[in-house]
Amino acid sequence: MKDEKFIVYENPILHRENNGSDIVVTNADNVIVNAIEVPEHLYVCDFCNDDIDVQTDEGLPISVFVLNNSHALCPKCTKQCFTYDITMLDRLGWCGCCTNDKADRYLYIEKDNMHTPGARFNTQEQADWFGDMYAGFTGRELFCIQGELSEPLQQND
Ligand SMILES: [Zn+2]
Ligand SMILES: [Zn+2]
Repeated sequence: MKDEKFIVYENPILHRENNGSDIVVTNADNVIVNAIEVPEHLYVCDFCNDDIDVQTDEGLPISVFVLNNSHALCPKCTKQCFTYDITMLDRLGWCGCCTNDKADRYLYIEKDNMHTPGARFNTQEQADWFGDMYAGFTGRELFCIQGELSEPLQQND
């Protein structure tokens, strides 16, 4: 599991607009047998098949965690994955195609008396979700700062 990594899509709908939204179905020999077009907002958890919320009632994007940039997971299954490897919490990648510059809840990690931005979210609810999960797994609290203290997050190449 060492190389497993979550890529965060900050704006999942924009991500689909950029990349297309076909679900490609392959058979046992990896031959494409069907491509199903799905609505851009329809994200389904690849592990448990629950729908994943990708925007708030006000239309703000909700970040989606995508394991190895290929499996979109619901918050429950995302958390489950961190139980297998908590180092993934410090190795998040942020998709460069759907950066949400309006997201202004920054979560800072304290290390050697330095604070480095580890994550950022649009909604306080999701920032709290991540912060609580991070503290629960690592015993380290994240500092949440709202504002424009923007520093680049680790981008996925
Ligand atoms: Zn799930
Ligand atoms: Zn993207």
